[in-house]
Amino acid sequence: MRQKLVVGNWKMNGSLQANQSLLKELSAGITDACGVAVAVCVPFPYLAQAQALLAKTSLAWGAQNLSEKDSGAFTGEVAASMLRDFACRYVLVGHSERRTLYGENNALVAEKFAAALAGGLQPILCVGETLAERETGKTGEVVAKQVAAAIDRAGIAAFSKAVVAYEPVWAIGTGKTASSAQAQEVHAAIRAQVACADVKVAEGLQILYGGSVKPSNAAELFGMPDIDGGLIGGASLVASDFLAICQAA
Ligand code: PEP
Repeated sequence: MRQKLVVGNWKMNGSLQANQSLLKELSAGITDACGVAVAVCVPFPYLAQAQALLAKTSLAWGAQNLSEKDSGAFTGEVAASMLRDFACRYVLVGHSERRTLYGENNALVAEKFAAALAGGLQPILCVGETLAERETGKTGEVVAKQVAAAIDRAGIAAFSKAVVAYEPVWAIGTGKTASSAQAQEVHAAIRAQVACADVKVAEGLQILYGGSVKPSNAAELFGMPDIDGGLIGGASLVASDFLAICQAA
């Protein structure tokens, strides 16, 4: 039985003041008794704040990106070891905004995936198709290639320490959500792809859905057999919405 996981992706939002009240409300609303694992992925400058406010709570925290390099002359980059210094558990890799706005391709995302694992972090590998790819029937092929790049680079055993997030690009921040059937179809295909290499790893793999998840659609999505929780953008910035989504899980 896979535990449900809900992860907030704050993107480039927040301030010390706003984060303080959001994190206090979240930690008051989420306890181990909820039965769902919850984490927030915050901008780098707020990792120390997240660590200070969440260390004794049921919430985990993480970052939204990392370098594929360990250290050195890479101005502006942040290494896995630095994220571990702030006790991060998770790091997003290959979010569609990184892929489309910052040119991250499957090969680079696979390097980041491997760097996260080598640094003791749990990567959340984000995959998903654009609207044009969906409309031309390429969803399966695109997502399979994104997953395969990480398997080829890090090996299938790596997926026992990783999370996958299926996020159709056309549903992120647009208010459009994949139907529960559309999402389930892709989640099942990802699990089947991993199962081809290792059935046990596939059975234990948490596959999250992301893309305009809201309190009103969360329960139906999370009720699907291969949807193990969500990666939540906009709604993770509103405590009452994020808590309601966690409750739906
Ligand atoms: C995301 O940023 O990963 C995301 C799913 O955003 P939203 O929930 O706002 O669509």
